[in-house]
Amino acid sequence: MKVEEKVALNAIKAHKESHIVVNEEACRACDNRVCLSVCPAELYSLDPDSGLVKIEHAGCLECGTCLVVCPAGAVTWKYPEPGFGIRYRHG
Ligand code: SF4
Ligand code: SF4
Repeated sequence: MKVEEKVALNAIKAHKESHIVVNEEACRACDNRVCLSVCPAELYSLDPDSGLVKIEHAGCLECGTCLVVCPAGAVTWKYPEPGFGIRYRHG
């Protein structure tokens, strides 16, 4: 089963404003980019044009891993606005 298929088992109502923001300057100087490998929903990716990390907040599982592991403290993270975000269906 692919990650997208697993995420689709849950209900996510994404807010138009991202609840996750990464600091571009900090990311530019980052040499490990651990965010690319730890997100269980694979929401972090590299922008091919800028070479910088980008985040697609809409599929966020709200686990907080990216906030905890970023060595530069470049991730600003908060829960989505009330009524938005993930609703787990299978525990
Ligand atoms: S680990 Fe942190 S600083 Fe490094 S690219 Fe990811 S978000 Fe940016
Ligand atoms: S909180 Fe979890 S699911 Fe959401 S972007 Fe960060 S690592 Fe991915």
